[in-house]
Amino acid sequence: MSLKINLRHLTDHGLHLKGELPVAELDLGVNDELIHGERPLRYDLSVELLHDAVLATGSLALPLDCECGRCLKKFKMELKLAGWAAHLPLEGEDKVSVDNDCVDLTPFVREDILLNFPQHPLCKTDCAGLKPKGKANKAEAAEKPAVVVWAALDKLKLK
Ligand SMILES: [Zn+2]
Repeated sequence: MSLKINLRHLTDHGLHLKGELPVAELDLGVNDELIHGERPLRYDLSVELLHDAVLATGSLALPLDCECGRCLKKFKMELKLAGWAAHLPLEGEDKVSVDNDCVDLTPFVREDILLNFPQHPLCKTDCAGLKPKGKANKAEAAEKPAVVVWAALDKLKLK
């Protein structure tokens, strides 16, 4: 699947594009230790031909594997652009390049994904970071049931 739109298919009525784009084709060029994207981008777009432009609207979603910048916990998130829109002029100075009657939406998707890329991934917004005390508390909590068990055994012995 690609995000290329054949303008000839657009002349009478709009197009609906739904599918997945391999992340390699999106070619984000992001080199971030904390964020990895290996799963495909999902898109669900309506494309229509305006008087002198192509208008694409819809939703984009890119699953990401992140590492929390504070506590280093791994977590998954999804970069979602629910109301994405791209207006591609076919005339004038800013006109998009048309290749074999096709316009490629990929560069526009790439640009907006990069603009919305998480800068400092956090497992949750109020992540407190690494807490050495947390481990000690857990150890204490684990000891308690053992004490109860021994107490119960002691009672059995008494009988
Ligand atoms: Zn965290």
